[in-house]
Amino acid sequence: MRKIPRALVDTGASRIVLLEKRQQVMSALGIKFDTMAKIGRVAEEDQAQLSHDEFVSLHLNSLDYAQLRLIEAALDRLDSGDYGICLSCEEPIPAKRLNVLPWARYCVKCQEDVGAAMDQEWNRERTRVPVGVR
Ligand SMILES: [Zn+2]
Repeated sequence: MRKIPRALVDTGASRIVLLEKRQQVMSALGIKFDTMAKIGRVAEEDQAQLSHDEFVSLHLNSLDYAQLRLIEAALDRLDSGDYGICLSCEEPIPAKRLNVLPWARYCVKCQEDVGAAMDQEWNRERTRVPVGVR
């Protein structure tokens, strides 16, 4: 039996917002994956061809990827009925916060408590991409 969601928001509306956002991020990632493939090809022979813009887009790419994971996780929670519930204190996340951050995993208070851990997670995403490119 599924438990009844306690979320304070309309989860149907949240799902639509999340799916739209996922589409946006995925199409943005698609463009940047092309750039990464190009860099992969030129990296060995002619690294001087890499433009500053391409490095910038690689950087953005890893941020988008991190956000995509957050969106996917939120969609999973919609399916399991845990959406809108703080992962830490298990209290409902205020609808106002979910309207701004539909993929929020924590209430504001717990977000502050886990803030440092979140930063580490994002740094790991950021440093993972440009391997072997100098
Ligand atoms: Zn909390």
